[in-house]
Amino acid sequence: MTNFNKNDIFEVDVIDLTHEGAGVVKIDGYPFFVENALPSERIKMRVLKTGKKFGFGKVDTYLTTSPHRVTDINLDYLRTGIADFGHLDYGEQLKFKRKQIVELLSKTARKADFPVAETIPSPDVTKYRNKASIPVRAVNGVLETGFFRKHSHALVPVEDFFIQQPEIDEVVVFARDLLRKCGLKAYNEVENTGFMRNIVVRRAHATGEIMVIFVTRKVAFFKVDNVLNALTTQFPAIKSIMQNVNTTTGNAIFGSDWQVLYGQDFITDVMLGHKYEISAPSFYQVNTKAAEILYTKAIEFADLQPSDIVIDAYSGIGTIGLSLAQQVAHVYGVEVVATAVENARRNAEVNAITNATYVTGKAETVMADWLSEGIKPDVIVVDPPRKGLDEAFIKSAVHVGARSIVYISCNAATFARDVVRFEELGYALEKVQPVDLFPQTHHVELVALLQRVK
Ligand code: SAH
Repeated sequence: MTNFNKNDIFEVDVIDLTHEGAGVVKIDGYPFFVENALPSERIKMRVLKTGKKFGFGKVDTYLTTSPHRVTDINLDYLRTGIADFGHLDYGEQLKFKRKQIVELLSKTARKADFPVAETIPSPDVTKYRNKASIPVRAVNGVLETGFFRKHSHALVPVEDFFIQQPEIDEVVVFARDLLRKCGLKAYNEVENTGFMRNIVVRRAHATGEIMVIFVTRKVAFFKVDNVLNALTTQFPAIKSIMQNVNTTTGNAIFGSDWQVLYGQDFITDVMLGHKYEISAPSFYQVNTKAAEILYTKAIEFADLQPSDIVIDAYSGIGTIGLSLAQQVAHVYGVEVVATAVENARRNAEVNAITNATYVTGKAETVMADWLSEGIKPDVIVVDPPRKGLDEAFIKSAVHVGARSIVYISCNAATFARDVVRFEELGYALEKVQPVDLFPQTHHVELVALLQRVK
């Protein structure tokens, strides 16, 4: 094996991309990961560090560049991971996302030739995010908003976040200037001092309504009235300003203490013709237009009948179940965040939907409860977080014998793992459709159909 020393330079070909967008280089079989290097590029690589199984390198010189390279990207977007695929043209991003799913199904589920559909593009490829969670820190003594450099907590000041709705960027920059003017202190996570930790902004795509959440280390908010007046005068679309107090020292953005500082504690958006109230702690897909495409595909895969009982598991504020409720007999939803369940119940009411029942709890537990209550779903829609489905959930879902499982996944690795279990227990994977909810980033989203084998 070659001996590598820091700062050694090698002339190498980039052969692949990791799922997080780093270029892959191999020297005598030993892999290096290189930021901002694309497949087919030949580079002079400088060794940064090496470990037992892999190392990290840096581009010293590009000898050739990929025809798919986007050259006018601000490199801070790569450094921070705001847009870790921003240097790759959009068509290639879509292909790469599909390829990842194909490879995971082949590796994990031994489905080498599964016909994964072409990735459906996002209607907007920049300026699409309806939510921003922006850290506030002091840089050289000045309060700044921006994003952390990857794998670190060094703040890179950013004003144009590229993939966020520009109205959100405007609110963040205005709030930053206001905090400076009012002499409010940025949070210092090393010393656990200071006040303002994060500014979180949500903007409803269809209505333009805005919610601002100030995440603070302490309750007492110096000059709060000045801040509220200035913000709401400048941005009449602000319907809600919240304060969340997070006294912990970990990485979680929100603490448990919420207060309304101004207006309501929710904003309203519209998806697929239904209105949704969204509260601060509730999950809501960040790319609304692309999520509408995702839900439409999920509903198509479900092939609903008017007599169907449908379970909407991991239901959030009810967006999937309520989108399909009018086509079926009854929808049962389950979600672990109580505020989101309150939103879902209210959203059923607001849309005059009377055949949807939402329960607070863990999907794996509530699924078993429903089973013992004799609820017999025909279709189960699941939309779990990255860790995928719990084994207990899969067992109950299989035991109840639903005709179809529609699986929405934001993590193709856990999806492939769960497909293996469903197939062992009598279901077959029929369709996989990637939908790009996160342009310019490495995140992959898909919807799949599993059917009971007769
Ligand atoms: N279907 C919704 C939400 C999907 S996000 C939508 O499309 O908007 C996943 C949701 O699962 C989140 O709301 C999260 O709070 C919830 N969740 C996480 N773990 C859970 C569990 N064990 N049981 C039920 N819900 C869970």
